[in-house]
Amino acid sequence: MKKYFLGENYALIDALYEQKQIEQSDWFALLTMLTPDEKEYLRKIASDVAKSNFGNGIYIRALTEISSYCKNNCFYCGLRTSNSLAERYRLTKEEILDCCSEGDAMGFNTFVLQGGEDPKQNDEWITDVVRSIREKFPEKAITLSVGERSKEAYMAFRDAGANRYLLRHETRCDEHYSRLHPAVMSGEKRRECLQTLKELGFQTGSGMMIGSPFQTMEHIVEDIMFLEQLNPEMIGVGPFIPAQGTPFAKYVAGSVENTLLVVSLLRLRFPKALIPATTALSTLCENGLEKGILAGANVVMPNISPANVRKKYSIYDNKKSYGTESAQQLHLLDKRLNVIGYHIDYGRGDYDNNKK
Ligand code: SF4
Repeated sequence: MKKYFLGENYALIDALYEQKQIEQSDWFALLTMLTPDEKEYLRKIASDVAKSNFGNGIYIRALTEISSYCKNNCFYCGLRTSNSLAERYRLTKEEILDCCSEGDAMGFNTFVLQGGEDPKQNDEWITDVVRSIREKFPEKAITLSVGERSKEAYMAFRDAGANRYLLRHETRCDEHYSRLHPAVMSGEKRRECLQTLKELGFQTGSGMMIGSPFQTMEHIVEDIMFLEQLNPEMIGVGPFIPAQGTPFAKYVAGSVENTLLVVSLLRLRFPKALIPATTALSTLCENGLEKGILAGANVVMPNISPANVRKKYSIYDNKKSYGTESAQQLHLLDKRLNVIGYHIDYGRGDYDNNKK
Protein backbone atom coordinates (compact mmCIF):
# COMPACT_ATOMS: atom_id res chain seq x y z
CA MET A 1 0.00 0.00 0.00
CA LYS A 2 1.15 3.51 -0.84
CA LYS A 3 2.62 5.39 2.15
CA TYR A 4 1.45 8.89 2.98
CA PHE A 5 3.69 11.49 4.58
CA LEU A 6 3.05 14.53 6.71
CA GLY A 7 1.54 17.30 4.62
CA GLU A 8 0.65 14.98 1.76
CA ASN A 9 -3.05 15.20 2.49
CA TYR A 10 -2.95 18.96 1.92
CA ALA A 11 -1.37 18.25 -1.45
CA LEU A 12 -4.15 15.77 -2.25
CA ILE A 13 -6.82 18.32 -1.34
CA ASP A 14 -5.06 20.89 -3.53
CA ALA A 15 -4.90 18.36 -6.37
CA LEU A 16 -8.66 17.86 -6.14
CA TYR A 17 -9.17 21.62 -6.10
CA GLU A 18 -7.07 21.85 -9.25
CA GLN A 19 -9.25 19.17 -10.86
CA LYS A 20 -6.37 16.70 -11.12
CA GLN A 21 -7.15 13.02 -11.16
CA ILE A 22 -6.21 11.18 -7.99
CA GLU A 23 -5.82 7.46 -7.41
CA GLN A 24 -8.10 5.09 -5.56
CA SER A 25 -5.65 4.93 -2.65
CA ASP A 26 -5.64 8.74 -2.49
CA TRP A 27 -9.42 8.78 -2.09
CA PHE A 28 -9.07 6.26 0.69
CA ALA A 29 -6.46 8.43 2.39
CA LEU A 30 -8.72 11.47 2.15
CA LEU A 31 -11.59 9.54 3.69
CA THR A 32 -9.65 7.96 6.51
CA MET A 33 -6.48 9.84 7.33
CA LEU A 34 -7.26 13.54 7.57
CA THR A 35 -6.35 15.30 10.80
CA PRO A 36 -8.86 17.82 12.21
CA ASP A 37 -6.81 20.66 10.70
CA GLU A 38 -6.78 18.99 7.30
CA LYS A 39 -10.53 18.41 7.50
CA GLU A 40 -11.05 22.09 8.24
CA TYR A 41 -8.79 23.02 5.31
CA LEU A 42 -10.84 20.74 3.04
CA ARG A 43 -14.13 22.17 4.32
CA LYS A 44 -12.96 25.73 3.79
CA ILE A 45 -11.81 25.08 0.23
CA ALA A 46 -15.03 23.20 -0.59
CA SER A 47 -17.12 26.06 0.70
CA ASP A 48 -15.02 28.57 -1.29
CA VAL A 49 -15.53 26.49 -4.44
CA ALA A 50 -19.30 26.41 -3.87
CA LYS A 51 -19.29 30.18 -3.34
CA SER A 52 -17.26 30.86 -6.45
CA ASN A 53 -19.76 28.83 -8.49
CA PHE A 54 -23.02 29.82 -6.86
CA GLY A 55 -22.29 32.95 -4.84
CA ASN A 56 -23.97 33.14 -1.46
CA GLY A 57 -27.33 31.94 -2.77
CA ILE A 58 -28.81 28.59 -1.80
CA TYR A 59 -31.30 27.12 -4.25
CA ILE A 60 -34.61 25.87 -2.89
CA ARG A 61 -36.78 23.05 -4.29
CA ALA A 62 -40.37 22.45 -3.20
CA LEU A 63 -40.62 18.77 -2.28
CA THR A 64 -43.94 16.96 -2.57
CA GLU A 65 -43.93 13.38 -1.31
CA ILE A 66 -46.56 11.86 -3.56
CA SER A 67 -46.96 8.33 -2.17
CA SER A 68 -45.78 6.27 0.78
CA TYR A 69 -46.69 3.01 -0.96
CA CYS A 70 -43.80 1.07 -2.49
CA LYS A 71 -43.65 -2.34 -4.11
CA ASN A 72 -40.00 -2.73 -3.15
CA ASN A 73 -38.45 -4.05 0.01
CA CYS A 74 -35.16 -2.22 0.49
CA PHE A 75 -33.94 -3.34 3.91
CA TYR A 76 -33.18 0.18 5.16
CA CYS A 77 -36.36 1.98 4.13
CA GLY A 78 -39.39 2.67 6.29
CA LEU A 79 -41.64 2.59 3.21
CA ARG A 80 -40.68 -0.96 2.26
CA THR A 81 -43.69 -3.03 1.34
CA SER A 82 -43.28 -5.47 4.24
CA ASN A 83 -43.22 -2.75 6.89
CA SER A 84 -46.50 -3.23 8.71
CA LEU A 85 -45.75 -0.15 10.84
CA ALA A 86 -45.66 2.17 7.83
CA GLU A 87 -48.59 4.52 7.38
CA ARG A 88 -49.68 4.61 3.76
CA TYR A 89 -51.15 7.38 1.64
CA ARG A 90 -51.08 8.49 -1.95
CA LEU A 91 -51.80 11.96 -3.21
CA THR A 92 -54.21 12.62 -6.05
CA LYS A 93 -53.21 14.61 -9.08
CA GLU A 94 -55.31 17.51 -7.79
CA GLU A 95 -53.53 17.46 -4.44
CA ILE A 96 -50.14 17.50 -6.17
CA LEU A 97 -51.21 20.42 -8.37
CA ASP A 98 -52.38 22.24 -5.24
CA CYS A 99 -48.93 21.73 -3.69
CA CYS A 100 -47.34 23.16 -6.83
CA SER A 101 -49.67 26.17 -6.77
CA GLU A 102 -48.78 26.79 -3.15
CA GLY A 103 -45.09 26.48 -3.99
CA ASP A 104 -45.52 28.86 -6.90
CA ALA A 105 -47.12 31.45 -4.64
CA MET A 106 -44.17 31.14 -2.25
CA GLY A 107 -41.69 31.76 -5.05
CA PHE A 108 -40.37 28.24 -5.71
CA ASN A 109 -39.17 27.61 -9.23
CA THR A 110 -38.50 23.89 -8.92
CA PHE A 111 -41.06 21.26 -8.00
CA VAL A 112 -39.78 17.86 -6.87
CA LEU A 113 -42.19 14.92 -6.87
CA GLN A 114 -40.83 12.07 -4.80
CA GLY A 115 -42.46 8.78 -3.91
CA GLY A 116 -42.10 5.05 -3.50
CA GLU A 117 -42.57 2.80 -6.53
CA ASP A 118 -46.32 2.77 -6.09
CA PRO A 119 -48.00 0.45 -8.64
CA LYS A 120 -51.09 2.66 -8.62
CA GLN A 121 -49.01 5.69 -9.59
CA ASN A 122 -47.96 3.96 -12.79
CA ASP A 123 -46.04 5.41 -15.73
CA GLU A 124 -49.15 6.76 -17.45
CA TRP A 125 -50.38 8.40 -14.26
CA ILE A 126 -47.03 10.05 -13.56
CA THR A 127 -46.82 11.24 -17.18
CA ASP A 128 -50.27 12.78 -16.91
CA VAL A 129 -49.36 14.56 -13.66
CA VAL A 130 -46.15 15.93 -15.16
CA ARG A 131 -48.02 17.12 -18.26
CA SER A 132 -50.58 18.93 -16.12
CA ILE A 133 -47.88 20.63 -14.05
CA ARG A 134 -46.04 21.62 -17.20
CA GLU A 135 -49.21 23.12 -18.73
CA LYS A 136 -49.94 25.12 -15.62
CA PHE A 137 -46.33 26.15 -14.90
CA PRO A 138 -44.46 26.34 -18.21
CA GLU A 139 -41.38 28.01 -16.71
CA LYS A 140 -40.77 25.80 -13.67
CA ALA A 141 -38.29 22.96 -13.37
CA ILE A 142 -39.92 19.60 -12.67
CA THR A 143 -37.86 16.97 -10.89
CA LEU A 144 -39.02 13.38 -10.48
CA SER A 145 -37.83 10.85 -7.95
CA VAL A 146 -40.06 7.84 -8.52
CA GLY A 147 -37.58 5.03 -8.83
CA GLU A 148 -36.60 2.52 -11.48
CA ARG A 149 -38.77 2.67 -14.60
CA SER A 150 -38.40 1.59 -18.22
CA LYS A 151 -36.67 3.71 -20.86
CA GLU A 152 -40.06 4.27 -22.47
CA ALA A 153 -41.45 5.59 -19.20
CA TYR A 154 -38.50 7.95 -18.72
CA MET A 155 -38.99 9.19 -22.30
CA ALA A 156 -42.67 9.79 -21.65
CA PHE A 157 -41.85 11.72 -18.46
CA ARG A 158 -39.33 13.83 -20.32
CA ASP A 159 -41.68 14.50 -23.24
CA ALA A 160 -44.41 15.51 -20.81
CA GLY A 161 -42.08 18.14 -19.38
CA ALA A 162 -39.89 16.64 -16.64
CA ASN A 163 -36.37 18.10 -16.58
CA ARG A 164 -34.58 16.35 -13.77
CA TYR A 165 -34.53 12.92 -12.13
CA LEU A 166 -33.15 11.77 -8.78
CA LEU A 167 -32.18 8.13 -8.32
CA ARG A 168 -29.50 7.31 -5.80
CA HIS A 169 -27.26 4.42 -6.76
CA GLU A 170 -26.84 3.74 -3.00
CA THR A 171 -23.69 1.66 -3.39
CA ARG A 172 -21.50 0.79 -6.37
CA CYS A 173 -20.42 -2.50 -4.81
CA ASP A 174 -22.79 -5.24 -5.95
CA GLU A 175 -22.06 -7.39 -2.92
CA HIS A 176 -22.88 -4.48 -0.61
CA TYR A 177 -25.96 -3.71 -2.70
CA SER A 178 -27.19 -7.25 -2.14
CA ARG A 179 -26.93 -6.75 1.63
CA LEU A 180 -29.11 -3.66 1.46
CA HIS A 181 -31.72 -4.94 -0.98
CA PRO A 182 -33.63 -8.15 -1.69
CA ALA A 183 -32.33 -10.41 -4.46
CA VAL A 184 -34.92 -9.19 -6.98
CA MET A 185 -33.21 -5.79 -7.02
CA SER A 186 -29.78 -5.20 -8.49
CA GLY A 187 -27.20 -2.46 -8.53
CA GLU A 188 -26.66 -3.13 -12.20
CA LYS A 189 -30.29 -2.35 -13.04
CA ARG A 190 -30.05 0.85 -10.97
CA ARG A 191 -26.94 1.94 -12.86
CA GLU A 192 -28.60 1.16 -16.20
CA CYS A 193 -31.50 3.41 -15.23
CA LEU A 194 -29.07 6.19 -14.36
CA GLN A 195 -27.28 5.80 -17.68
CA THR A 196 -30.59 5.92 -19.53
CA LEU A 197 -31.65 9.05 -17.70
CA LYS A 198 -28.38 10.74 -18.65
CA GLU A 199 -28.73 9.68 -22.28
CA LEU A 200 -32.28 11.04 -22.39
CA GLY A 201 -30.99 14.43 -21.33
CA PHE A 202 -32.32 14.57 -17.77
CA GLN A 203 -30.32 16.55 -15.26
CA THR A 204 -29.63 13.43 -13.28
CA GLY A 205 -29.06 13.04 -9.58
CA SER A 206 -27.42 10.13 -7.84
CA GLY A 207 -25.75 9.50 -4.50
CA MET A 208 -25.61 7.26 -1.47
CA MET A 209 -26.14 6.97 2.24
CA ILE A 210 -23.12 7.35 4.48
CA GLY A 211 -22.82 4.75 7.22
CA SER A 212 -25.32 2.28 5.79
CA PRO A 213 -25.05 -1.20 7.32
CA PHE A 214 -21.96 -3.13 6.18
CA GLN A 215 -20.56 -0.08 4.37
CA THR A 216 -16.79 0.34 4.47
CA MET A 217 -14.65 3.29 3.42
CA GLU A 218 -13.60 1.23 0.40
CA HIS A 219 -17.25 1.19 -0.66
CA ILE A 220 -17.38 4.98 -0.47
CA VAL A 221 -14.25 5.16 -2.63
CA GLU A 222 -16.01 2.95 -5.19
CA ASP A 223 -19.07 5.19 -4.96
CA ILE A 224 -17.04 8.30 -5.69
CA MET A 225 -15.34 6.60 -8.62
CA PHE A 226 -18.72 5.55 -9.96
CA LEU A 227 -19.95 9.13 -9.67
CA GLU A 228 -16.88 10.26 -11.59
CA GLN A 229 -17.93 7.97 -14.45
CA LEU A 230 -21.58 8.95 -14.35
CA ASN A 231 -20.88 12.66 -13.90
CA PRO A 232 -24.29 13.48 -12.42
CA GLU A 233 -25.64 17.01 -12.31
CA MET A 234 -26.97 16.50 -8.78
CA ILE A 235 -25.51 14.46 -5.92
CA GLY A 236 -27.34 13.59 -2.72
CA VAL A 237 -25.46 12.17 0.26
CA GLY A 238 -26.99 11.86 3.68
CA PRO A 239 -26.28 9.76 6.74
CA PHE A 240 -28.04 6.42 7.08
CA ILE A 241 -30.79 6.63 9.72
CA PRO A 242 -32.57 3.49 10.91
CA ALA A 243 -36.31 3.10 10.34
CA GLN A 244 -38.63 1.24 12.69
CA GLY A 245 -40.16 -1.96 11.36
CA THR A 246 -37.23 -2.65 9.01
CA PRO A 247 -34.46 -5.25 9.26
CA PHE A 248 -32.02 -2.43 10.09
CA ALA A 249 -34.20 -0.81 12.77
CA LYS A 250 -31.61 -1.41 15.47
CA TYR A 251 -28.54 -0.45 13.46
CA VAL A 252 -26.51 2.60 14.37
CA ALA A 253 -27.04 5.77 12.33
CA GLY A 254 -24.29 7.00 10.01
CA SER A 255 -21.81 9.63 11.10
CA VAL A 256 -22.55 13.29 10.52
CA GLU A 257 -18.83 14.03 10.39
CA ASN A 258 -18.20 11.47 7.67
CA THR A 259 -21.18 12.73 5.69
CA LEU A 260 -19.81 16.27 5.80
CA LEU A 261 -16.39 15.02 4.78
CA VAL A 262 -17.89 13.29 1.73
CA VAL A 263 -19.94 16.40 0.84
CA SER A 264 -16.74 18.48 0.83
CA LEU A 265 -14.83 15.92 -1.25
CA LEU A 266 -17.68 15.75 -3.75
CA ARG A 267 -17.85 19.52 -3.95
CA LEU A 268 -14.19 19.61 -4.95
CA ARG A 269 -14.53 16.80 -7.47
CA PHE A 270 -17.84 18.15 -8.89
CA PRO A 271 -17.57 21.95 -8.50
CA LYS A 272 -20.75 22.68 -10.47
CA ALA A 273 -22.94 19.91 -9.08
CA LEU A 274 -26.13 20.71 -7.23
CA ILE A 275 -25.60 19.18 -3.81
CA PRO A 276 -28.32 19.39 -1.15
CA ALA A 277 -27.88 19.83 2.57
CA THR A 278 -30.09 16.80 3.17
CA THR A 279 -33.00 16.42 5.56
CA ALA A 280 -31.24 13.36 6.98
CA LEU A 281 -28.34 15.57 8.02
CA SER A 282 -30.73 18.00 9.73
CA THR A 283 -32.55 15.10 11.37
CA LEU A 284 -29.38 13.80 13.01
CA CYS A 285 -27.84 17.13 13.86
CA GLU A 286 -29.51 20.32 15.13
CA ASN A 287 -27.43 22.55 12.85
CA GLY A 288 -27.07 20.02 10.03
CA LEU A 289 -28.39 22.58 7.56
CA GLU A 290 -25.62 25.07 8.35
CA LYS A 291 -22.96 22.38 8.53
CA GLY A 292 -24.00 20.94 5.16
CA ILE A 293 -23.85 24.34 3.49
CA LEU A 294 -20.53 25.24 5.09
CA ALA A 295 -19.20 21.89 3.83
CA GLY A 296 -20.07 22.82 0.23
CA ALA A 297 -23.78 22.02 -0.29
CA ASN A 298 -25.83 24.58 -2.22
CA VAL A 299 -29.42 23.28 -2.29
CA VAL A 300 -32.21 22.84 0.26
CA MET A 301 -35.46 20.99 -0.38
CA PRO A 302 -38.23 22.28 1.90
CA ASN A 303 -41.26 20.03 2.26
CA ILE A 304 -44.52 21.21 0.73
CA SER A 305 -46.55 18.00 1.09
CA PRO A 306 -49.99 18.41 2.68
CA ALA A 307 -49.67 18.68 6.47
CA ASN A 308 -51.84 15.61 7.13
CA VAL A 309 -49.49 13.22 5.28
CA ARG A 310 -46.10 14.69 6.12
CA LYS A 311 -45.38 12.45 9.09
CA LYS A 312 -46.42 9.39 7.10
CA TYR A 313 -43.58 9.65 4.59
CA SER A 314 -41.31 8.04 7.11
CA ILE A 315 -38.39 6.64 5.15
CA TYR A 316 -36.42 6.74 8.42
CA ASP A 317 -37.26 7.54 12.05
CA ASN A 318 -37.95 11.10 13.22
CA LYS A 319 -37.56 12.56 9.74
CA LYS A 320 -37.89 16.34 9.93
CA SER A 321 -40.61 17.98 7.87
CA TYR A 322 -41.49 21.08 9.90
CA GLY A 323 -39.64 24.21 10.99
CA THR A 324 -36.96 25.10 8.47
CA GLU A 325 -37.67 21.82 6.65
CA SER A 326 -41.12 23.15 5.80
CA ALA A 327 -41.86 25.20 2.68
CA GLN A 328 -44.23 27.30 4.77
CA GLN A 329 -41.30 28.55 6.86
CA LEU A 330 -39.01 29.99 4.20
CA HIS A 331 -38.48 33.09 6.33
CA LEU A 332 -36.97 30.87 9.06
CA LEU A 333 -34.76 29.15 6.52
CA ASP A 334 -33.57 32.49 5.15
CA LYS A 335 -32.86 33.73 8.68
CA ARG A 336 -30.71 30.72 9.44
CA LEU A 337 -28.89 31.10 6.14
CA ASN A 338 -28.29 34.80 6.82
CA VAL A 339 -26.56 33.97 10.09
CA ILE A 340 -23.89 32.04 8.19
CA GLY A 341 -23.63 34.60 5.38
CA TYR A 342 -26.00 33.00 2.83
CA HIS A 343 -29.51 33.67 1.52
CA ILE A 344 -32.21 31.90 -0.44
CA ASP A 345 -31.76 32.00 -4.22
CA TYR A 346 -35.22 31.77 -5.81
CA GLY A 347 -33.86 30.94 -9.27
CA ARG A 348 -34.53 27.60 -11.00
CA GLY A 349 -30.99 26.55 -10.25
CA ASP A 350 -30.37 24.42 -13.33
CA TYR A 351 -27.05 22.72 -13.79
CA ASP A 352 -24.91 25.16 -15.73
CA ASN A 353 -22.52 23.61 -18.23
CA ASN A 354 -20.83 26.92 -18.78
CA LYS A 355 -19.76 27.51 -15.23
CA LYS A 356 -16.17 26.76 -14.50
S1 SF4 B 1 -35.83 3.09 -0.84
FE1 SF4 B 1 -37.29 3.69 -2.43
S2 SF4 B 1 -37.57 1.80 -3.65
FE2 SF4 B 1 -36.68 1.17 -1.69
S3 SF4 B 1 -38.45 0.65 -0.39
FE3 SF4 B 1 -37.93 2.81 -0.01
S4 SF4 B 1 -39.23 3.98 -1.36
FE4 SF4 B 1 -39.20 1.88 -2.10
